[in-house]
Amino acid sequence: MSEPTPNRLATDLIHAGRIRTNLDENAEALFLTSGFTYESAELAEAVFANQIEHFQYSRFANPTVAMLESRLARLEGAEACRATATGMAAVHAAVMCGLKAGDRVVASRALFGSCHWIISTLLPQFGIESVFVDGPDLPGWQAALAKPTALVLLETPSNPMLDIVDLAAVSRLAHAAGALVVVDNVFATPLLQKPLQLGADVVVYSATKHMDGQGRVLGGAVLGSRQWIEQVFQPFFRNTGPSLSPFNAWVILKGLETLPLRLKAQSESAEAIARFLETHPRIARVLYPSLASFRQRELALRQMSGGGTLIAFEVKGGKPEAFRLMNALRIISISNNLGDTKSLATHPATTTHMRIGAEERARLGITDASIRLSVGLEDVQDLIADLTQALDKM
Ligand SMILES: *Cc1c(COP(=O)(O)O)cnc(C)c1O
Repeated sequence: MSEPTPNRLATDLIHAGRIRTNLDENAEALFLTSGFTYESAELAEAVFANQIEHFQYSRFANPTVAMLESRLARLEGAEACRATATGMAAVHAAVMCGLKAGDRVVASRALFGSCHWIISTLLPQFGIESVFVDGPDLPGWQAALAKPTALVLLETPSNPMLDIVDLAAVSRLAHAAGALVVVDNVFATPLLQKPLQLGADVVVYSATKHMDGQGRVLGGAVLGSRQWIEQVFQPFFRNTGPSLSPFNAWVILKGLETLPLRLKAQSESAEAIARFLETHPRIARVLYPSLASFRQRELALRQMSGGGTLIAFEVKGGKPEAFRLMNALRIISISNNLGDTKSLATHPATTTHMRIGAEERARLGITDASIRLSVGLEDVQDLIADLTQALDKM
């Protein structure tokens, strides 16, 4: 039903995987239906026996969701994709579907908060050992992966301090230990980083972030080989039900059409803002992957084709100064979301990373003066002016 996709990426993000009905609609149809009907009992029998391909029930598959899955697979360069209700549903299902009691999991320490909870708290409840490694510490990975391991989960660049993990080196070590390598690629997006080409086995996304990119819906995706998706992931997915709503899939399809344009503009603005912040006397430190001052710049630019839309920085002083800056912003909003067309500022120590505690924050380099900025699609001169007037009020 879907069409071949011989075109360049920007074209395929508008056309790939299209399922057009006999009504010849131009935009992708929104199949807001939970179930499908069968002409005869014989057809239903054949469909359930896997003899005929036919949509059955939207928990398993849905045409609008299938269009999104085809397009995401094309974007990632993956054989197969399943879309999920949220980014966390994607991470949870990708991690849990192949694990069993007695297994061992190694993960980078600087993970999105809920991913950290799955590894540190949920897995041990099922008799699965979990081990954390500092993402940039290659000897640390080597030591942790000296024992047989079932799965590696890592995030690069990490939230919020933009630690970079060497994807090729860690994938090699992980495979030698027998592990499946799962990469949370939300910060880089599939446009700036292709983990599968660097040796990873599975890539997971929160489509809530850059893919919708306009702050409307939650969604997620899991991408990997056809064999892994069909044989390991699909039974877990089909029977546990973390499925994406067709409505949300339709919104994310519209988001993908403009993803390359949005990401290019937002990344350019982010780099300009990072350079501006670096020269400001009230700023102590700026982290952005393509800055000359970025400690892991060489590795970042080896595996990413751009710095992305997120900046981490520290103001001089502590929490009062950070709060004063954030409260004085007029265009940039205070919010814990990211990847949106609207620029958003977060104080990780008191919000997204409050629950992990002061000791773990210190290990991750998150201080009371740290601010994460997700750069949106506003005019960059207005964003710099907004930051300038807010910095003046500190
Ligand atoms: C937001 C996010 C998630 C979770 O996605 P949801 O759509 O909120 O469930 C996972 N990993 C990273 C890096 C994220 O930024």
